[in-house]
Amino acid sequence: MTSRMTPLLEHNEQFARAYTPVPLGLPAAQVIVITCLDHRIDPAITLGLRPGDAPVLRNAGGRVTQPVIEEIAYLAFLGGRLAGGQIAGGSRVEVAIIHHTQCGTGFLADPGFRREASAATGVDEAALAASAVGDPHATVAADVDRLLSSPLLPPGMGVSGHVYDIETGRVTTVVDARYR
Ligand SMILES: [Zn+2]
Repeated sequence: MTSRMTPLLEHNEQFARAYTPVPLGLPAAQVIVITCLDHRIDPAITLGLRPGDAPVLRNAGGRVTQPVIEEIAYLAFLGGRLAGGQIAGGSRVEVAIIHHTQCGTGFLADPGFRREASAATGVDEAALAASAVGDPHATVAADVDRLLSSPLLPPGMGVSGHVYDIETGRVTTVVDARYR
């Protein structure tokens, strides 16, 4: 039986041969990444993340939606439990939001495109508009503010904003980490 997955599973076989498991624990990099699901910008590759380094949350645009905020809250709770309550005072985890140029959600800034997308998918037009990344520098700054202002963001957690440039492969910091 061959499927689209066949070459990927062959790759996995190579991966598993040299594999060392990482126990469940706090992320070694003390970073949580929020970014777009775009298949050109895998943070494991662009940022050199290895297993155990950092949780990565991905959606269209890498936007800070309510479900994303709830995931962050849960991760912080879980991290606190894994650390046996030690995490609250000392460890400062940074949430890094990374938007990117040439984002496929950019088309959603156009009302006509948005209307067609809504009609074809059944997704609410307002939800589509909220995921649009036209200018990643502007949207990432807005999402840093949105996450920092959420009451669900645990104390001691920082938020920073960055833009990944598809042309150069370079990540530029737009908003330095702010802690609350
Ligand atoms: Zn994107």
